[in-house]
Amino acid sequence: MRTGRQERPTRCFFRFLCLVLVFWFLVFLQYIIVDEWYPHTGTDNHRHFSGAVNINPHGLPNDHLLRVEDVRDKLKLHRKVPPDGHVPKGDNSDSDHHFEKLRRQGFPNDHLPRVDKSDNGLNINKVGGEGLPKANRPVKVLEKDRKSDAVKNIVEFIQEKMATSDSPNKAYNKTLAPVREVKDKNLTSTSNIDYHARSRDEAEVKRILNTIAPLAHVKAPGEFGRAVQVHVESLSKEEKIKMEEGFNRTGFNLHVSDLISLRRRVPDLRPAGCRGILYPDDLPATSIIICFHNEAWSTLIRTVFSVLDNTPQHLLQEVILVDDASDHPSLGSSLEEYLRPLPKVKLVRASSRVGLIGARLLGVAAATAPVLTFLDSHVECMKDWLQPMLHRIKDDEFTVTYPVINGIDNKDFNIYQVEVYYHGLFNWVDLTYFPSPLTLSMMRKRKSTTAPIMSPTMPGGIFSISRRYFHLLGGYDPGLKVWGGENIELSFKTWMCNGTVELLPCSHLAHIFRTTNPNLGKDAFRTVLNNAMRVAYVWMDEYKYLFFHNVVSNHVTPQFGDVSGRVLLRKKLQCKSFHWYMKEVATDLYAPISAVALNKIVNVKFDNYCLTHSIYYPKVWCGPCDNFIHQQKVWYLDNGQLLAGVLWREKPWMCLVANSTELVMSERCDAIKQRRQWTYTHENTILNTLHKKCIELIPGKPLVLTECTGVRSQKWVLQQPSYKLVTHPIRR
Ligand code: UDP
Ligand code: MN
Repeated sequence: MRTGRQERPTRCFFRFLCLVLVFWFLVFLQYIIVDEWYPHTGTDNHRHFSGAVNINPHGLPNDHLLRVEDVRDKLKLHRKVPPDGHVPKGDNSDSDHHFEKLRRQGFPNDHLPRVDKSDNGLNINKVGGEGLPKANRPVKVLEKDRKSDAVKNIVEFIQEKMATSDSPNKAYNKTLAPVREVKDKNLTSTSNIDYHARSRDEAEVKRILNTIAPLAHVKAPGEFGRAVQVHVESLSKEEKIKMEEGFNRTGFNLHVSDLISLRRRVPDLRPAGCRGILYPDDLPATSIIICFHNEAWSTLIRTVFSVLDNTPQHLLQEVILVDDASDHPSLGSSLEEYLRPLPKVKLVRASSRVGLIGARLLGVAAATAPVLTFLDSHVECMKDWLQPMLHRIKDDEFTVTYPVINGIDNKDFNIYQVEVYYHGLFNWVDLTYFPSPLTLSMMRKRKSTTAPIMSPTMPGGIFSISRRYFHLLGGYDPGLKVWGGENIELSFKTWMCNGTVELLPCSHLAHIFRTTNPNLGKDAFRTVLNNAMRVAYVWMDEYKYLFFHNVVSNHVTPQFGDVSGRVLLRKKLQCKSFHWYMKEVATDLYAPISAVALNKIVNVKFDNYCLTHSIYYPKVWCGPCDNFIHQQKVWYLDNGQLLAGVLWREKPWMCLVANSTELVMSERCDAIKQRRQWTYTHENTILNTLHKKCIELIPGKPLVLTECTGVRSQKWVLQQPSYKLVTHPIRR
């Protein structure tokens, strides 16, 4: 039963509630009016548009002279135990490695057959043609950009870097200033967060985007990441030709991309556990750097819009588009006009091609935020894609983070989900990244489905890194040309120099994976290999031979430019050994470090003939000896196995084996079996452990096992590779 006394406070409460509602209504009204009448209020950053880029004078990637440990102490950066419980142990580097020892104890190497072929330095397909312009050409800027001193600074910086390759003395001496200047600043400031300003910014950006490109109808082509089916039969001849041309130019179905809204809605592909996570209010802001070369207009703009749509504005310092000398008409002044009203979007142009790595360095030089985030120019970000990456970097500044990169089908633009619980490894043939499922024991150690995944390498197109850590690590090796190797360089040195590379299961976006890459030109393979050689030489210690043996031909000195500056950088940083990295980080990558590399196995009687294997043909033959083919290379393991060919990824590999009819064959060698074990005897014969017989060359037949009699056709010379790896002397 209610009394009058009890009703009174209720009435008061309702009045109070009405007042509050009226008050909020007025506030809301004011925002709408202010936003409509004064659209440029809010953040000042909205008005920044390049030509006149804002260059941070401390943006130059050259903090090399400090030891990582010193800087960490100075910066008061402390590593935390990675949340998935994987704790890399201390440096147990073992500089006198088994490989050299084995080489020394190894097989006689003094019967090298004469090689009189002209060498091309590498075991790669020679392809003619001009290929890409050299990355060390000077960078030019648009006439308009020349006016800006800031742009000149970047250009001079890049030119100097390119010109000196990476000669240490010149470039590294200016390095200390930036670290000193930033050392007292925190990545974020927690004081006085203005939540009103934040929500005003969000509303402002949405308003601008809605003006330029209103959201499409939910059933419009491609919405929510759906596939767009085009019935080719129904297209006119001209349309078909246009579609084909688009595909050839971009490597994806441009016709379909142009049909899809520039602001299409995307699905939320995060694991369920990620959905409710709240991120701190004071995450550090980031500069998003998007390099492009002749990117399709629709995919480029969709990338920019998806960043603006899915990134909390207070975390977005700027979006820096770096045009790597595109010459497609759609990317000229009309692009500038289109971008002009967009908040925080800047455009930096290099008028001659500097390659992905050079373009990224241009972007870094223009970036002002404490965290750098790199994106490809054909991605679509998803809900809360950025926060997990910034969160980890805020917790531990030596963390390099990358998201789960879902796929956008290059034909129908369907967004498809990829497996999450993978990490990155690398190939021994060209050091390219490949994803590999987490092992059972790694999965068991994981404490939750959302915890970061420690990743030995990252794909490299999309990631975040603290700007000062990036600088401290010496940025990218400016001697890396066009594309490739930079992701592996950064992954290696992050791990070896006290950082971690983490894949974050709660951070998702989608990227167009292409089958052919129109950007790379005809010289792509060679470029990638040259870049890989630089990285291997500088960072991989004794393990580099597992790579070099795969790609270098005998008696050839591979040319990969001057890396002395990078060698010096590594020395100054006092990073851990590559052996440590292999033992503690890339634990599941097959690396037969104690194996002896054999360039070829030469028969003594028929000394122009060498053991020759093929993955397409199980029988092993003897073919004319050739320094330039993989089919004569062999790795002799200390367990007696003879691995055929070049190392690629993980086990199982192809092994030489004696079958029941005593033929020598090659087959997958997942387990050690006696028929796959061989001994190289003092009589120079190759003895099978099971059959106790020797390999003999009988002309016109595949290789067979026969009773060991010591005849010359049973004797073999195991020829180890012989080549020099040199870095150029430091210029003074
Ligand atoms: N890119 C560039 N200059 C180049 C090569 C590539 O600016 O010389 C850009 C390219 O437009 C893309 C990014 O670098 O935004 C990554 O290249 P791509 O997408 O071709 O590499 P992938 O995704 O195949 O690894
Ligand atoms: Mn890409």
